[in-house]
Amino acid sequence: MARLACFLNIVLAVVSAVSLLNAGAFAGQPDGACVASDAKTLRKDLAAILRDLRDDTAKGYLTGEDESKIVDVYADESLPPNQRAEKAFGLVMEARLRGLPVEIADQVRAIIKSRIRVEVNNDYNGAYFKADVSSGAVKIDLPEELVGSPIQYSVMAHELEHAIQDAVAVNVLGKYEMPEHSLSLYTDAKFLMEAGAMSAEYYSLRLISPEERLICRNAILKADVPRSDRSILLRMLNNSKSMSLKQFLSAEHRAGNYSRLSIALHSRPGRRLVKKLGTATVWALGTGFIARAYCQLLYDNNNEQPLQTPFFQTVCTKIMRIGI
Ligand SMILES: [Zn+2]
Repeated sequence: MARLACFLNIVLAVVSAVSLLNAGAFAGQPDGACVASDAKTLRKDLAAILRDLRDDTAKGYLTGEDESKIVDVYADESLPPNQRAEKAFGLVMEARLRGLPVEIADQVRAIIKSRIRVEVNNDYNGAYFKADVSSGAVKIDLPEELVGSPIQYSVMAHELEHAIQDAVAVNVLGKYEMPEHSLSLYTDAKFLMEAGAMSAEYYSLRLISPEERLICRNAILKADVPRSDRSILLRMLNNSKSMSLKQFLSAEHRAGNYSRLSIALHSRPGRRLVKKLGTATVWALGTGFIARAYCQLLYDNNNEQPLQTPFFQTVCTKIMRIGI
């Protein structure tokens, strides 16, 4: 009986938590309706831009001629390995920029060529891109074993795609911000962004020669990086050789790399929601227990005659039916 009463309290708590969240969905946003309508427009624009770009990358942008040039570069023994990787990246980048309006291609090229900063950092922390066309910079932290390797350039290809996304979005929308007020809008936008950027990594990694691939693998194993980052790097390196782009992206999403769920959980709006849920659940559980204790008190004081008040009839009878 006590277990059933406890279950009922939990059900009551969850129902209360959901009601509280629904009621407070726009709490703290006095002009909630206005925000929602702006968000709808933003979703249409930003998501449409990002989806188009993601679809462009999904079609592939390396022609047969590009691919054979890249293969030749990796086979060119007159160049040291770091120059081979750099030259191959130059070919990948120019192939990607070829499909874009000239002024956007120029902006992105300038960011990649003059504003990129690769830093040796043995506490590898991935790479990040500060998205601003006028003052944008790409900073990549890498363990020294990977500096100058095709892995560095695959990370640059990822950031290149973000630079393109940002330049195109600014060109169409003007100054814009990620829709951080909404979990679903933010997750949509970020998912499309990262799918596009991971596609770019795929193209950058796919044509590495077998010898170079082995060197990269050993460098990743030797580098002092967190185990999770090492598995991501190894998995991408391996899968880029054996999988289609679609399979490659599915494998990344299955592993939680920029899947919708992982984006949602790690996002600012996601963390805000989890915090709200936690607070609401604690509040509702507390309310449930207090309500039950109060009903018990009313019942005890009236002994065998249940009270006729609406509160007792509607709430207490439900809570206490199982508990007494
Ligand atoms: Zn990214």
